[in-house]
Amino acid sequence: MPKTRFQALVESRNREYATINETGKRSDLFGKHVFNEEKMLQFLTAEAFDKVKSAIYQGNKIDRKIADQVAEGMKAWALSMGATHYTHWFQPLTGATAEKHDAFFDILPDGRAMEKFGGAQLVQQEPDASSFPSGGIRNTFEARGYTAWDPTSPAFIYKTTLCIPTIFVAYTGEALDNKAPLLRALQAIDQAATGVAQYFDKNVRKVHATLGWEQEYFLIDKSLVNSRLDLSVTGRTLVGSFSAKGQQLDDHYFGVIPARVLGFMSELEKECTKLGIPVKTRHNEVAPNQFELAPVFEEANLSVDHNLLLMDVMEEIADKYNFSVLFHEKPFAGINGSGKHNNWSLGTDTGVNLLSPGTTPMKNLQFLTFFVNTIKAVDTYEELLRASIASASNDHRLGANEAPPPIISIFIGQQLSDVLDELEGVSKGKLSPQEKTELKLNVVGKIPEILLDNTDRNRTSPFAFTGNKFEMRGVGAKMNCAKPMTTLNTIVAKQLTDFKKEVDTLIDKKNLKKDEAVFNVLREYIKTSKRIRFEGDGYGIEWQEEARRRKLSFNKNTPEALQVITSKESYELFKQMGVMNEVELKAHKEVELGAYIFHIQIEGRVLGEMVYNHIIPAAIKYQNMLLENIHGLKEVYGAAHKKVAEGQLNILEQIGEHIVDIKKLTDEMADARRRANGMSVVDKKAQAYCNNVKPYFDKIREHSDKLEKLIADEFWPFTKYREMLFSK
Ligand code: ADP
Ligand code: MG
Repeated sequence: MPKTRFQALVESRNREYATINETGKRSDLFGKHVFNEEKMLQFLTAEAFDKVKSAIYQGNKIDRKIADQVAEGMKAWALSMGATHYTHWFQPLTGATAEKHDAFFDILPDGRAMEKFGGAQLVQQEPDASSFPSGGIRNTFEARGYTAWDPTSPAFIYKTTLCIPTIFVAYTGEALDNKAPLLRALQAIDQAATGVAQYFDKNVRKVHATLGWEQEYFLIDKSLVNSRLDLSVTGRTLVGSFSAKGQQLDDHYFGVIPARVLGFMSELEKECTKLGIPVKTRHNEVAPNQFELAPVFEEANLSVDHNLLLMDVMEEIADKYNFSVLFHEKPFAGINGSGKHNNWSLGTDTGVNLLSPGTTPMKNLQFLTFFVNTIKAVDTYEELLRASIASASNDHRLGANEAPPPIISIFIGQQLSDVLDELEGVSKGKLSPQEKTELKLNVVGKIPEILLDNTDRNRTSPFAFTGNKFEMRGVGAKMNCAKPMTTLNTIVAKQLTDFKKEVDTLIDKKNLKKDEAVFNVLREYIKTSKRIRFEGDGYGIEWQEEARRRKLSFNKNTPEALQVITSKESYELFKQMGVMNEVELKAHKEVELGAYIFHIQIEGRVLGEMVYNHIIPAAIKYQNMLLENIHGLKEVYGAAHKKVAEGQLNILEQIGEHIVDIKKLTDEMADARRRANGMSVVDKKAQAYCNNVKPYFDKIREHSDKLEKLIADEFWPFTKYREMLFSK
């Protein structure tokens, strides 16, 4: 057996089991490493404490004097916790997080050493950002980027570094990151939703979007992952014959968690708890060695930060347990990939979930208002929502029989479908007293408080109502949730803004009562957004045909899906909501397309290397072994050897044919890549990679997988699927 594979297998089998060390309550650990209100009270002046709180809850600015005080308090706390460095922690468009550590330690002009950190360092930093993607923004404006403190997400200490969550923007103000647009979208939804919520409760002052993600991932032994070029470089297996046993027995799902994994989970959860990430559930997922972790939901900006932080911490702790954690959306062909469901809702500062049915007709009208407006928003902007979850790796997962298709539709369940059908029949204009009573008693009044049992059934829907929230299921496991959350909150903000205008007009001009006006507008929305509602099987081929008839977008790949970002409707939407301007949208699209190109390019190169340097040599080695045997048989049997060696000759021939084909395809792929690289327009180049380069991957894989089946196990260079998926 090739040395790397052999060593990896031996190493993976000799791992020591971790013992779980759980002492004390998790709640005692919660937020220990976070500069939260409790710490602020202790380390800040009363004035600074109030100003930070008003920045968090009212979005007020913090001036330099206060910033100095906050920095002083943060430093004192950080040093008391043993921190030596600080960093602005930000989310460049690469999708990951970035940080540049500076020591608190400094030398004064008189040569004395001390720990320094002031308001200037807290508020703004200038990372040498020239190698972060900017989609041309920096070149166009010749402006450098800087990071700026986001006081709504508390600073935390990770290991010995004080991390300050920040946005990353160009000096000209354009966002160079995923957080700045998200914050603007959250501000837009706050404003729009508060206006509408006040129809029902005058006391509402603020509405925040909530997000609860569910992170799926694979844990594979580190040595096994490192033994595979494709997995370690691209995050997925480019070749590999399916293992005889996959997930067909469903014996992994919710099964007993293996000991080493449990050790990892336990330590991870403790670390998360200290960092203020409220992790709650853990379990085995459908595919072998696949797991899921979910927290209690939080305000969306904080939740996004926590997910990104979690992913970093997971990698770190996995390594300690000799695992590699795979976030790729489809690391293994033939079994389930990994997603990150985004559960989303809207909450008021009065403690009400606006997507939760209530106990009174009025509360239910409020619920229906936000419910129907969300449906309408998704109907109008379904293509933008699809674009927000597009990536090279998620392309493999969407529509692959275990994940929703790249067609956006909404599932609401039978009960609510019935309610909407009834509402469609509401009269135009003023309502008669009888109709009002009828609506109150039999339609709005009948929405049960708990819908959960009936609404959670359809797992094939990309956007499902699950009782008191919507669940967006197309988000990829590797993705920054900021992207879909920015789009979703922006489109709902726009929709609620339009809704309020319409309702106000009916009240002012047509003299309708508030609830009459609301019913009237909702009725029209229900009628005009019907095509987005689909209760059937989202995985079926029939749905694709039906979706086409309904004129829903069906963008199968990333280059197609991203086009809409620079459309007129997108420019208008994001501009009106103050979330992104044309320059930013163009830049975001360009960065996404660039990332797509690099992904496919790297996969192509790795695959070429695997074919030429590993697969063909292994095939030849086995051929030689067969040849030697056939020669020997010929010596013994003479002309009769053909009969005795029939099997060997046949295998020899098959291998020869596969070598010819796989080499030819690999060369053609390299040519296609060269042609694509020659293109200067990024749209065209991405399309060329998608349509001319990528199709070779599967064709090449087919020959490799056949060779894997033909060639003696001892010669096969890559760790096999069964070895990776069933090691514990
Ligand atoms: P599933 O059946 O999909 O596993 P659960 O009902 O267990 O779903 O909840 C999944 C996620 O939904 C959790 O991460 C939880 O925090 C989140 N969630 C619950 N309520 C809300 C809400 N109001 N807003 C956002 N997320 C929520
Ligand atoms: Mg879910």
